[in-house]
Amino acid sequence: MAQQQPDRDERARLGLRPDCGSCLGLCCVALPFAASADFAFDKRAGEPCPNLRADFRCSIHRDLRQRGFSGCAVFDCFGAGQKVSRVTFADQDWRADPRTAGRMFDALAVMRQLHELLWYLTDALTRQPARELHGPLRRALDDTERLTRSGPEDLLALDVPAHREAADALLLRTSELVRAGYPRRDLRRADLVGARLKGADLRGADLRGAYLIGADLRGADLRAADLIGADVRDADLRGADLSGSLFATQSQLEAARGDVVTRLPPALSRPARWSAGSEPGLGRRAVRPSGRRSADRPTR
Ligand code: SF4
Repeated sequence: MAQQQPDRDERARLGLRPDCGSCLGLCCVALPFAASADFAFDKRAGEPCPNLRADFRCSIHRDLRQRGFSGCAVFDCFGAGQKVSRVTFADQDWRADPRTAGRMFDALAVMRQLHELLWYLTDALTRQPARELHGPLRRALDDTERLTRSGPEDLLALDVPAHREAADALLLRTSELVRAGYPRRDLRRADLVGARLKGADLRGADLRGAYLIGADLRGADLRAADLIGADVRDADLRGADLSGSLFATQSQLEAARGDVVTRLPPALSRPARWSAGSEPGLGRRAVRPSGRRSADRPTR
């Protein structure tokens, strides 16, 4: 019998997965990036990337990592790009009018935060230890989804931190309830860059916002660990168990190393390059922060 994946189904319904073919290339224009290990050159916010074609497709899409754009390869708009392009601005072309372009780029930033919140709320709604919260979680999800359908002016006027505050409290409480059955491991925002955690028992660990860049997590047990906002760039997850981990994102997986043995939360997909074996050099290259990547970390 096929495994039930209610959060995957809900995320599909809400359009939380990027569909670049339905987007007007917004992230390739709106966001800045700095020359680093993640990007081959500098680009200002609002400046179209030279690799963006006239049909809004990326001319180097198949070779992003090899061409020095791994930051693009791991970026996840949570479906905000196509929502702003197709729904909020009803297919208006940002190239036709600089003022419209600016509003679309500003709306992208708001929409991405709302879609990211929807991503976490769909996860929380699958957690049976937090079923007492499912009512308010569902209301938070419905309210947030309604906001994503606002017109441009309402969207741009939205106080996102104020909207997120109550929802973030629900997500935090969900995490506490799910992790309650495990030994307390408070590693929130811990500096674990390059840490040797091979085979570690991290079940139920609070790793919210932890810095796990380049950490050796081979064979680690991360079941029920809260990974919201954890920076796992180049972390080695080969053979690790992330099944049941909380609030993991596809972007986190794309930024890490893994293999065919790594166990994933059911709603996430195994990055294609994991199946092909580890990439030469990945995990050893210098890791430098960039504007785009830092945008991947939630506010709390
Ligand atoms: S390199 Fe990155 S920013 Fe430039 S067009 Fe391709 S995906 Fe977009």
